[in-house]
Amino acid sequence: MGEDALSIGADTFAFFTRNPRGGGAKPVDPADAAALMDLMARNGFAKIVAHAPYTLNLCSDREEAREFARNTMADDLARMEYTPGNYYNFHPGSHMKQGSEAGIGMIADALNGMLTKDMTTTVLLETMSGKGTEVGRTFEELAEIIDRVELKDKMGVCLDTCHVYDAGYDIVNDLDTVMDRFGSVLGFGRLKAVHINDSKNPFSSHKDRHERIGDGSIGLEAFSRVVNHPAFEGRPFILETPYDELSGYAREIALLRGCVKE
Ligand code: FE
Ligand code: FE
Ligand code: ZN
Repeated sequence: MGEDALSIGADTFAFFTRNPRGGGAKPVDPADAAALMDLMARNGFAKIVAHAPYTLNLCSDREEAREFARNTMADDLARMEYTPGNYYNFHPGSHMKQGSEAGIGMIADALNGMLTKDMTTTVLLETMSGKGTEVGRTFEELAEIIDRVELKDKMGVCLDTCHVYDAGYDIVNDLDTVMDRFGSVLGFGRLKAVHINDSKNPFSSHKDRHERIGDGSIGLEAFSRVVNHPAFEGRPFILETPYDELSGYAREIALLRGCVKE
């Protein structure tokens, strides 16, 4: 993973801790993990951002499914200690018509059972588009989850540009207002990472379909304001639109680096 990242001009990357649809994970090879940490240190990498399987749901209406999510995430967090001091991002969940308050409670309870004082990983809640019964469409919902977590210093937020735009935060015409809102509701200290994706759908569509940078409804001009906005300074930016070839990401990285003003 580290060598692939280097080969396309990246200094961070995301990875799935296991099959993104859930299920088993191959055992960690400690020597391989140490070699990655060494490569990242030698090449000035930022923190890397692991992604939990997106089928996990900590606030499902079935206890079986909630338990599976809790156990999988706890196992992932143990595995993350082989690459210490990085980020583990997850989708807060879908409350399945139990109501967002109930969902928020279940998510926070699960985190309280999972986080430990000694862990070195920071767990990130991803901002969601609000499709179906997703929790995390608003900054307020994410703040409420963090409010109820005891070990708050282990928690952060990953802002997904496609998701917030689809959720109804107008980062195209009013980025400053959106980020001011983030700052007042969550605090900029909580903003740890960015998923930088264009959107296939119009503003506030609650859809969540990623598009290549510059080809969607957000557009390159808006992204050039995003990458230069002080609220995002120093944060890892992750590209999440699928490409068959690494060269697609290399192109997007070069495009976005070209937008950064000194
Ligand atoms: Fe995600
Ligand atoms: Fe994302
Ligand atoms: Zn998405």
